[in-house]
Amino acid sequence: MKIAILSRNPELYSTQRLVESGLGRGHDVRVIDYARCYMGIKSHRPMVQLARETLEFDAIIPRVGASETFYGTAIVRQFEMMGTFTTNESQAIARARDKLRSLQLLSRAGIGLPVTGMAHSTKDVDGLIDLVGGAPLIVKLVEGTQGIGVVKCETREAAESVIAAFRQLNAFILVQEFIAEAKGCDIRAFVVDGKVVASMMREAKPGEFRANIHRGGKATKIKLTPEERAISVRAAKAMGLNVAGVDLLRSNHGPVVIEVNASPGLEGIEAASGVDVAGKIYEFVEKNAGRGSSRDKIGA
Ligand code: ADP
Ligand code: MG
Repeated sequence: MKIAILSRNPELYSTQRLVESGLGRGHDVRVIDYARCYMGIKSHRPMVQLARETLEFDAIIPRVGASETFYGTAIVRQFEMMGTFTTNESQAIARARDKLRSLQLLSRAGIGLPVTGMAHSTKDVDGLIDLVGGAPLIVKLVEGTQGIGVVKCETREAAESVIAAFRQLNAFILVQEFIAEAKGCDIRAFVVDGKVVASMMREAKPGEFRANIHRGGKATKIKLTPEERAISVRAAKAMGLNVAGVDLLRSNHGPVVIEVNASPGLEGIEAASGVDVAGKIYEFVEKNAGRGSSRDKIGA
């Protein structure tokens, strides 16, 4: 099959693994920098161009970076209009990027979540803080990644100042119950095609509560409980994602989902779990690419 990995950086571990794995399975694989692609928006014949070349693939594997959501998802959408199979649809990628929208959809599906609030006006900060059970609490940028934009506030006063500061900058934030019992650990479940194919536990470095690898977190192998598996699969489905990295915390009230990533990295998870995750993504492509593009059914 002719397969494109939409990625800005061919040097990234995840991109390289996808190339290597695809070539190993006999596919014709190319890395396409979607930011260099341009589109002809004409009636009847949508097309994607790279330099003077008109691109055509049997399938695309989008790896859209956080800072390029708008243009990246537009390119994915253009491929969808051409009937190209994509591992994740443009709509699903866009919705996963927005933490509030994601939590709303997960809540609609009845999935366990940390108690979370959001407000537009800082006049309501007191009520918002009460809503999540007071301090300590977490304040999160709606569009943050890699742990940047996730702040722990030990006291109500600290929370009030942080919220006021973010809002002053016109940033939208979530206020969230701090799950202390997670003890700086979170769980990543890698879901492909409705199954958890690999998982890991990440543990924050000493003195840090964020378990992100980019924040110095360490990954280890973990066996998920049946409940954690089930919630991960349901979370990916509620978001309309075929390939997803579901992040969970072990709370006193059972597993809670904190976010669902549409372009989850492969490095930490493959090393920690020993699973060929790239291969699992190709199995999904091989099984489905011939059937044309699917249709997003989430409706939000
Ligand atoms: P990002 O998109 O930046 O990774 P997350 O929402 O995943 O943002 O938060 C980053 C990390 O912070 C998580 O992996 C987890 O370790 C920690 N964390 C996030 N939310 C909470 C919470 N409500 N309680 C305790 N720890 C949290
Ligand atoms: Mg995260």
